[in-house]
Amino acid sequence: MVRKLAAGNWKMNGTAENLGEVDALKAALPRPEVDVLICPPTTLLSRVAERLDGSGIGTGGQDCHSVRAGAHTGDISAPMLADAGASHVILGHSERRNDHGETDADVRDKAKGAIAADLTPIICVGETLAEREAANTLAIIGGQLAGSIPDIVTGDRLVIAYEPVWAIGTGKVPDTDQIGEVHDFIRAKLEQRFGVGVGRAVPILYGGSVKAGNAAEIFAVSNVGGALVGGASLKAADFAPIVAALQGA
Ligand code: PEP
Repeated sequence: MVRKLAAGNWKMNGTAENLGEVDALKAALPRPEVDVLICPPTTLLSRVAERLDGSGIGTGGQDCHSVRAGAHTGDISAPMLADAGASHVILGHSERRNDHGETDADVRDKAKGAIAADLTPIICVGETLAEREAANTLAIIGGQLAGSIPDIVTGDRLVIAYEPVWAIGTGKVPDTDQIGEVHDFIRAKLEQRFGVGVGRAVPILYGGSVKAGNAAEIFAVSNVGGALVGGASLKAADFAPIVAALQGA
């Protein structure tokens, strides 16, 4: 049975004045029946983790360096995220790939660093609109999976997030057949490479304009094991109904 996961990615949003949303989420989800994560900016990570202690809601980072420590001004390592309370780290988000030129090989090295620090990497893959229109979606996703996932993963130490770049923050969402096609493809690739046991245990999240209004429909699609949520994770009133939809799926 694959654990379901709803992960909220706050991106570069949030200061101390937003911490009330964490308390509100805790109050709205007293006993979450699925895994729930908030991935705040690193400046808030330890404060969010402290507030969520004992709530059943976890925290994650949004990126990490591949090595444990050293002369890398401005970077954050995986052991630092773990020390601040994180259990997971988002890696290879399309905004990191675009803004910082991160390659599949970079993502793979970061994932190795994360696993070495006992963090679970949430590795993001997804096609651009031009790639989808050129009928290259599965080839792109296949290449990103092959290049970004290290060989050392186990089923309980990996999450994949399928995030079509054109659906992130745009309000556009692929139809359920399109989502199902990619999620089934990802599952098949994981089983091929890591064997059925490991391949079946990896949660595959959908991400891209998930809202309370479309969550239940998306969670009913085959091999969708949850969501990576950007904008709608910033307010507990928006995020809690998405978690509720996942609990009911
Ligand atoms: C994201 O950035 O991971 C994301 C899915 O954003 P949004 O939900 O805002 O589309």
